[in-house]
Amino acid sequence: MAVTAHLRNRGVETLIAGKPMEFWKRMPPGMHLKSSYSSITISDPERRYTQQRYAAASGRPAEEPVPLAFLLGYAEWFQRHNTPDILALYARHVASDGAGYRVTLEDGQEIKTSKVVIATGVAHFARYPDYTRGLPPELVTHVQDHADFSPWSGKRVAVIGSGESALESAALLHEAGAEVEIIARGPVIWIDRRLANERTRRIFYPPSDVGPAGVAWLVHYPGFFRLLPESARVRIDQRCVRASGAPWLRPRVDGVVRVTERTEIQRAEQRGDRLWLTLSDGATRELDHLFLGTGYAPDVGKLTFLDERLHQRIASNNGYTVLNEWFESSVPGLFFTGAIAGYNFGPICRFIAGTGATARQISHRVAMS
Ligand SMILES: Cc1cc2nc3c(=O)[nH]c(=O)nc-3n(C[C@H](O)[C@H](O)[C@H](O)COP(=O)(O)OP(=O)(O)OC[C@H]3O[C@@H](n4cnc5c(N)ncnc54)[C@H](O)[C@@H]3O)c2cc1C
Repeated sequence: MAVTAHLRNRGVETLIAGKPMEFWKRMPPGMHLKSSYSSITISDPERRYTQQRYAAASGRPAEEPVPLAFLLGYAEWFQRHNTPDILALYARHVASDGAGYRVTLEDGQEIKTSKVVIATGVAHFARYPDYTRGLPPELVTHVQDHADFSPWSGKRVAVIGSGESALESAALLHEAGAEVEIIARGPVIWIDRRLANERTRRIFYPPSDVGPAGVAWLVHYPGFFRLLPESARVRIDQRCVRASGAPWLRPRVDGVVRVTERTEIQRAEQRGDRLWLTLSDGATRELDHLFLGTGYAPDVGKLTFLDERLHQRIASNNGYTVLNEWFESSVPGLFFTGAIAGYNFGPICRFIAGTGATARQISHRVAMS
């Protein structure tokens, strides 16, 4: 939506297809954002559609943690004003035909265009550990598949992972009446935001607020981040998106939900309608369901709607697309946004806060060509 708003502002005729806010609408309604209020601005060229303007226009309070309902209301308002004409259809096939691109939508209509921006988020990249291979969805699912945990009331379940979505899913499962255990490879880390107080917040954290104090400034400017040596980019990226929980979530998990840290799953097997886990400490668990809070691993190879020949021409590194300063891939006219742009532009691309830089760069490039 942000890229389209910027393109149209520059007079570029733009068609936008996809299901608006689909990923967020599938999340549990009681969820809250890890991001701070200042960092959820969906970028528009004249900053007329900020979350602050939405809060004023709608009479909704500006609160932290930000409720999912606030973001959905804000995005719907943004969409109504900037991209009311989204075609709520998936692209089934994107191919290059030499002169440009041919995009086939799920209803069969074909669009010819000279430029394509792939902004399909992370849903395609859900991470499934090897031990889950062959297990049925009745026993193992990714947390992204659930908006409602009430069916697991009274059931014995485990959540794998220690990132925000794993920890919040565990809290929601517990609150829905499930007997929950979090099993994590590493320690459970709670974010310490002592420097985010009224007095020092603006010094240590830019409005984008991605990453720890100070480091957040390095990632605030993705154009600058891109110029850092690869080893520094990788280190900073890993530090900024390491698995951790927001401070406001802690009282709902710490001492409330059973946590088994520094433990891996070695085997998972179906026995009747239950799942048996063998852990790295030799212990076993018998469960009704296993929830994967294992996050997302961006991998351009998983974007199966891209034509095979196109795939072969897209340069990538460890699954991430390799992009120039305009977010353009090695195939001229084919742009990528979001987490998949993280190799060059860093962790800010994974968040709403990255929409500004991304939309400005892409719209500038497209308008100039
Ligand atoms: C549990 C969780 C919590 C998060 N919390 C935060 C947070 O607090 N703050 C934050 O800034 N970010 C958060 N994120 C990251 C968040 O996903 C991104 O910030 C944001 O959604 C990126 O927007 P996007 O438009 O790139 O992708 P998405 O919002 O995922 O949108 C992708 C769009 O692409 C469409 N699409 C997919 N495939 C096709 C296709 N083949 N053809 C056409 N359209 C297609 C979808 O319908 C959808 O409209 C969170 C992510 C997760 C998983």
